Amino acid sequence: MSTFNQSKAEVVRKYDAFAQKFNEIYLAGTTRGRVAMSTALDQASEQLTAAGEFTTAQGDELKHFLSRDLDQTVADMRHMSEEAKIKLNPSRLAAGALSSITRVLEASSEALSKLSEKSREQLTYSTGEMTSSGTLTCSACEQTLYLKTTGHVPPCPKCASTAFTKSY
Ligand SMILES: [Zn+2]
Repeated sequence: MSTFNQSKAEVVRKYDAFAQKFNEIYLAGTTRGRVAMSTALDQASEQLTAAGEFTTAQGDELKHFLSRDLDQTVADMRHMSEEAKIKLNPSRLAAGALSSITRVLEASSEALSKLSEKSREQLTYSTGEMTSSGTLTCSACEQTLYLKTTGHVPPCPKCASTAFTKSY
């Protein structure tokens, strides 16, 4: 494995660890909803930065990516059939950022409807950015690709474009 791939794998591990820490802090709290999520994101980032897991800049970046994955998951769930929602049940997912996200959302079902003001069309993902597992659709040619685990968004395998929307 090249140094470049090792560092990529390292960021993936950090993203999953960050999502897990966020999940723990949020579920340990007594309030549910967007404000509590935002607070838990800040605290998770601060704790892992203080523990030397990542730099302040990395913490800010991962916070941005996780916040977007949360928004995207909420937006997507609104469009989903009941059958599709069952696939996102935390007990059916392997460990990783997506599992941490869905556990948080499962605990927030009452607050869920007002969690995201953004539609999923507004949430774009660019090549090189970090995201939880899911299906990416190329904004240029509509080619889809499936990320089985947390990872970096690749360029479109068909047209090499770098902008995607995401769904499950
Ligand atoms: Zn494409």
